[in-house]
Amino acid sequence: MGEPMERAERIACKRAVKLHIFMPSNRKIWTVVGSKYEYWVHPPHFCTCKDYYFRTRALMIEGKEEKEKVSCYHLKAVEVAEGSGMVDEVHFDDDEYDGFIRALIDMIYRGVTS
Ligand SMILES: [Zn+2]
Repeated sequence: MGEPMERAERIACKRAVKLHIFMPSNRKIWTVVGSKYEYWVHPPHFCTCKDYYFRTRALMIEGKEEKEKVSCYHLKAVEVAEGSGMVDEVHFDDDEYDGFIRALIDMIYRGVTS
């Protein structure tokens, strides 16, 4: 495990940052493929990973959540990938949306209960 930015760069380089675009509605969902699970990321301030959860929780306990932006290496990876054109855009039909969300939630559930 390296420095957070270094790790974010490695994720971006693997093209693990994905932007799922559903047409014709143009709904967009970002995910980042981690070592074990895929995380639902809503840049710039939300990620479904445990790291994000614990960091946010720690800030809430300290009463600093308004002043500090919580981040994790998935959110940083989105930033890096966007900045360097390494986002993997995947196009879907709106008909595939329900199935996609179901699969994604299932993945997140496995991630948080492991
Ligand atoms: Zn994360």
